Amino acid sequence: MQQREEQLRQEMIRLQQEFDKMTQELQSGLFLKNMLLAMWEVWPFGALPGALVLLFKLFWMATEVDSDESESSSDESSSSSEEEEEAPVNEWDVGRFLMQQMQVPVLHLAKRCKVVEALVGDLLHACHLITLNTPLLRLEQCIGVGSAFEGWSSHWDTVYSLLVPLKPPTGHCFHLELGAGGELPARHGRVRVELECVCLRQQLLGDVRCFLHRPEAELGRNQGPCLLQYLCSHSYLDVEKTACWFQLTAMNAWLLLPASHRCRLTVLRSSRSCKLRLEKVSGRSLSIEILFGVQQGDSRVFLTSQQARAGLPSSTTWLESCAVPEMLFFRFVARQAPQDSCHLTCLNLFARLLEGTGFSTYCLKTVLMHLLTVIPLSRWHRGHLLERVDGILQYLQRCLEDKQLHHFLLGNERVPREVPLPVAFQTASPLNLFQRLAQEPDAHAQALRDFRRLQVRLRSLL
Ligand SMILES: [Zn+2]
Repeated sequence: MQQREEQLRQEMIRLQQEFDKMTQELQSGLFLKNMLLAMWEVWPFGALPGALVLLFKLFWMATEVDSDESESSSDESSSSSEEEEEAPVNEWDVGRFLMQQMQVPVLHLAKRCKVVEALVGDLLHACHLITLNTPLLRLEQCIGVGSAFEGWSSHWDTVYSLLVPLKPPTGHCFHLELGAGGELPARHGRVRVELECVCLRQQLLGDVRCFLHRPEAELGRNQGPCLLQYLCSHSYLDVEKTACWFQLTAMNAWLLLPASHRCRLTVLRSSRSCKLRLEKVSGRSLSIEILFGVQQGDSRVFLTSQQARAGLPSSTTWLESCAVPEMLFFRFVARQAPQDSCHLTCLNLFARLLEGTGFSTYCLKTVLMHLLTVIPLSRWHRGHLLERVDGILQYLQRCLEDKQLHHFLLGNERVPREVPLPVAFQTASPLNLFQRLAQEPDAHAQALRDFRRLQVRLRSLL
């Protein structure tokens, strides 16, 4: 009997030691490394999904407190998230990041995107109410764009971008003058504002006065400021004047919203957009950027107030943006792909690994969008994660060797019909985003060095 008790006691001690060791390894990240290595070894035999599930459970058990914190501030730049942002990229950072991506953030991001969209919608409605008597611009319903609304934003630096389509007020019309060139991938244009005769409407409804056929003095007295006079330069809609007008309007409109009693809204300095910082009493904050856009015909391609990397020639230059069709493409894929598709995780992973290299997230997003139309969506199941990551890297390598990466939406027959594009986009010649690499050998050599760094970072992770 005593011998049996001694055996049990020894067994308990052994189990306790093993448990302590596992806890220590989990805390130090060593366990994660071992698991990732094990995953890599067993992956060809189809055991990856099981290993990932196990890994999730263990990882979240060990970091329960941390995950609660990161979850509660996943879209908010709290001080802890800023520290995380500044932390150097290393394999544990990325390993943890990879795991987090596969757990909760997509759902949280979608939920918070809805909240932001509703809040900005309310703000626009209030803007509309306080500008009813000033025939300047009509603000249409906002459209969420960019990484957050595409579902792959890295949560520690999320800026929620929304595009607000602008329409001319009654008695005015917009004429778009598109000009190719400038910084790739975008093209640019100007928006000429013209007066329209509304005499007939004036006679029938009496709710407007025709700017074209009424003396200026009378209009000034009865109708308030005119769009051409206040928001245009040489008859062209001025981005900077528009942004300034909206910022002032938004600040006043905010005071009408019930949310203004609970949160503080700060309009940050921006010449071409409206950057808002929303702070709760708790100190947590939310970053929102509102861009303005003029729609090209019936398409979802806009001339927007977005800033160009190389700057723009004047304040009346608007940049052509495919942000809305790209967001719609990601929504299309989300509807068609398996529920646990890994394409957003892949993009998130690369976005993190790209830090410090010359590759933009737009470049990797373009690679991913091409691959999503080449590889069947059923093969983006979570179990194919490593295969897909490898595929993205190989695709990028081929593009670098050929010095050629085509813009996804221009002249690409593989773009699904569900993504509405102007006819000119469908018939256009492909646009090479790597044109600079073809023209500048030094830039190409640097890109190859950056690619090798990317390869090393991935290998150290996987
Ligand atoms: Zn008239």
